[in-house]
Amino acid sequence: MRNCCIVALCIVFYGCSSSQNSPESSITANQILQDVSWLASDEMQGRHYRSIEARKAAKYIADKWKLAGLTPLPTKTSMYLPTGDSRDSPNVAAMYKGTGDTFVLITAHYDHLKPRRSGKDKIYNGADDNASGTAALLAIAHALSKLQTPIQSSIVLVAFTGEEAGLVGSKYFANNSPIPLAKIRGLMNLDMISRGEPNTIFLEGAPDAPRINMAIVRANKQVSLNIIRNAHTDWLHRSDQAPFLEKNVPCIFLSVEDHEDYHQVTDHTDKIIPELAAKTARLAFLAAIDLAHPVP
Ligand SMILES: [Zn+2]
Repeated sequence: MRNCCIVALCIVFYGCSSSQNSPESSITANQILQDVSWLASDEMQGRHYRSIEARKAAKYIADKWKLAGLTPLPTKTSMYLPTGDSRDSPNVAAMYKGTGDTFVLITAHYDHLKPRRSGKDKIYNGADDNASGTAALLAIAHALSKLQTPIQSSIVLVAFTGEEAGLVGSKYFANNSPIPLAKIRGLMNLDMISRGEPNTIFLEGAPDAPRINMAIVRANKQVSLNIIRNAHTDWLHRSDQAPFLEKNVPCIFLSVEDHEDYHQVTDHTDKIIPELAAKTARLAFLAAIDLAHPVP
C-alpha cells in the first residue's frame, strides 16, 4: 500500500513537472505582453509598410529568432528575404531544422498602418493587428529552442511584411518560394489573436486541410481553447494564407472576431488579452510539432 502511494505520488509529481517543463509551457502571457508592448509602442509608428520602424521590427524579430537558435532557410544566408521592392522592409523567415525534406509553416504579418495626419492620437499601434501574432511567432521560436527530440519536418516561421498594403510579403513569398510549395505539410497563419471572448479563437480552412485539423484537435486537448470553426470562410482570402491557398498549400487561419478597435488608432496594448494570444501560440506550436512527425 505504501509502495503504491509512493508510485502514485511519483506519477503525479512527474506528470506535473514534465508539463511545467514542456517546451509549450515556455510560451507565457507575460512574454507576449512584453513583445506586444514594444512592437505596438508609439515609438514604432504603426510599423507601417516601407517605414524605418517596420525595418526595426524586422530586426527585432530576426534577433530574437537567432537567440532561439533558429537558422535561415535552406540556400539562404540571411533571415531577411527582400520582396523585390527595395523600398520595402523584408519578410523575415527562419527555421527549426527537421530530419526530413518537408516543412510546416507558422506565419503572421508584422506590419500595420501609416499614422494619420490629424487627430489627437495619430498612431495606429496595431497591438492586436498584428503585434499579437508577431509576438506569438517570437514565443514559438523560444519554445522550439526547448525541444528535446528530433522532428521530421522543419518548422518555418515567417513574419510577413506589407499585409496591410495588399498581402505584398506573402504574395511575393508564395510566388518566389525559397522552399518547394509541394513540400509544405501545412501552413497556420495568425492574424489578430488577442481580443474578444477571453478563451475563444476562430479557425478557418479546416475542411480543406484535414491533416492540420487533426493536429489542431489533438493540440487543443492540452490547450483547451474554445475553437469556433468555419464561421467566416470569407476571411480565408483576406490575410496572408490567401496566396498559398491559391497554390493548393493546405492552410488554416486563426483569428479573433472583428472588434471596435480594428484598424483604429485605439488598437492599444492595454486592450489585448495576452493569455489568449499565448494559448493560441501554444495551439499552433503543438499542432506544428504534430504535423512535423510522420502521418500516423
Ligand atoms: Zn492583420
